[in-house]
Amino acid sequence: MSRPPLKRILLKLSGEVLMGEGSGLSIDPAMTGRVAQEIADAKSKGFEMCVVVGGGNIFRGMAAAARGFERASADYMGMLATVMNALAVQNALEQIGVETRVQSAIPMASVCEPFIRRRAERHLEKGRVVIFAAGVGSPFFTTDSGAALRAAEMKCDALLKGTSVDGVYTADPKTDPNATRYDTVSYDTVLAKNLKVMDASAVALCRDNNIPIIVFNIREQGNLARVLAGVGTATVVGN
Ligand code: UDP
Repeated sequence: MSRPPLKRILLKLSGEVLMGEGSGLSIDPAMTGRVAQEIADAKSKGFEMCVVVGGGNIFRGMAAAARGFERASADYMGMLATVMNALAVQNALEQIGVETRVQSAIPMASVCEPFIRRRAERHLEKGRVVIFAAGVGSPFFTTDSGAALRAAEMKCDALLKGTSVDGVYTADPKTDPNATRYDTVSYDTVLAKNLKVMDASAVALCRDNNIPIIVFNIREQGNLARVLAGVGTATVVGN
């Protein structure tokens, strides 16, 4: 298994990526601006960029349900959080001159466009970055599943999962000193060993549609460009 040739990318950013380190802000302008610059750099190199943003920096349905919220309502709140993050990323991109559109799986006419696949396609053709918000639009899912679904619908060459670790490990490297990083690993191994990549439904959707998942550390400056050039440290999940 080697790194696939890439043209159209789906970049999945977990909400936590937008948090400042030490600023205490759930959406830190400096962090959001840095991520936006990485997306802009990728676009200027000719990559077509779709982005899916999570909401975990603001609200997670499952955690709220554990505190007594009704799960479906909590999940809708989580989805609304992803729309806030999508607007933050849009704002940061437009501040540096990148044209964008936000499309939400939950229609919100005054705030952004609804998700319309053909329209998203047109935006990409025109060189815009398309940011998909609200996951799949249904509770009991996550934005990882939203990312896998949009990657399949938009025929992306890969799903790039930007996290705070530099790939997929045999065990949690923070707690197990013997944990080693995979360069490549199969979807089936990820599912069988329950490795922390994305949730199982997202991994299965990527497997069934043959979409490689590239896991890399987005917190390290310039890493998106390195990974797109095939030189950065990352783990490729594929067949
Ligand atoms: N969510 C949902 N359906 C979706 C996507 C997200 O219900 O299709 C809710 C869910 O409560 C989730 C929250 O939105 O916890 C935020 O998304 P996620 O946890 O995936 O964000 P991330 O971990 O990537 O920051």
